[in-house]
Amino acid sequence: GQAIRIGIAGHGNLGRGVEAAIARNPDMELVGIYTRRPPEQVQPVTAGAAVFGMDALAQHADRIDVLILCGGSKEDLPQQGPELAALFNTVDSFDTHARIPEYFAAVDAPARANGKTALISAGWDPGMFSINRVIGEALLPEGATYTFWGKGLSQGHSDAIRRVPGVAGGVQYTLPVEEAVERVRSGERPELTTREKHRRDCYVVLKEGADAEAVREAIVTMPHYFDEYDTTVNFISAEELRRDHAAMPHGGFVIRSGNTSVENAQVIEYGLKLGSNPEFTSSVLVAYARAVHRMHQQGDVGAKTVFDVAPGLLSPKSAEQLRAEQL
Ligand code: NDP
Repeated sequence: GQAIRIGIAGHGNLGRGVEAAIARNPDMELVGIYTRRPPEQVQPVTAGAAVFGMDALAQHADRIDVLILCGGSKEDLPQQGPELAALFNTVDSFDTHARIPEYFAAVDAPARANGKTALISAGWDPGMFSINRVIGEALLPEGATYTFWGKGLSQGHSDAIRRVPGVAGGVQYTLPVEEAVERVRSGERPELTTREKHRRDCYVVLKEGADAEAVREAIVTMPHYFDEYDTTVNFISAEELRRDHAAMPHGGFVIRSGNTSVENAQVIEYGLKLGSNPEFTSSVLVAYARAVHRMHQQGDVGAKTVFDVAPGLLSPKSAEQLRAEQL
């Protein structure tokens, strides 16, 4: 059949990752990258990819089957999501967990009014982890669900340490506390505090003349970000920061531990070890774009989440092929 025609709205880490993912999915083609910046300032990863201003989108409505929204969750998607869902079938990775119900409603109304299908909050968390939390709870109603993150680079916490006076640069990694993970894996169902589940590792470059001990103290006591965790601060050179901390790894586990009878405990575990958080997230967005295209063709419109998408719709293979190969 015809390739699914994809547009990319916003060209940061995810926008570049979506380009890379489209190149690995022969049933998809990239129509163009759309940006708020002057198009000549945006360097596509794909040779020959077209870059347009965001204002060209309205004229490109019949060229694009699914528009993948790659803007930030904080400032960009709350505005772009509802606006663009009036014109296109969309997929996004909105990850402000507490605001998802409100965002869903804001996207649902314009999508429904215009007969579009808009999948929100795809990615890994929210996304693949959410699916595994729901399946775990459904299969083992008596039990507990645990989500551990890391080892992973946290953008928000890295930004927070860069704002500390005396800091020239730095990154923060979130790590699961191994002992807690092992207890959960063993079938024990502990109640874990924030401090018992995760710890934080910081790699910091000091400004010249800055007091290392004062910087360390400012970081480890920072409310909301670090005060509830055991935090280690390592001082490194600017050269080491560039050389050893440029990648964006992430991952983690969702574990459901439950009993099906008094005697029998059951543990389900889903884990991710991601070399690049944005590239993986983008691969998820592209698979969901395929599902959105099919759901739209079936007349299933309005806002959707990963809970509404049947797994077979993510695959380029037909339902018949999947029954023969994967069951
Ligand atoms: P970026 O900050 O890299 O990009 C966000 C937007 O900023 C882009 O769409 C782009 O818009 C603009 N931008 C990018 N680079 C520049 C630049 N050099 N100068 C000016 N503007 C720029 O964010 P990410 O792609 O890393 O992440 C996007 C969102 O994805 C995050 O906010 C996060 O919430 C979400 N996410 C969700 C995950 C999940 O599991 N659900 C996992 C990972 C991320 P434009 O081209 O229009 O200027």
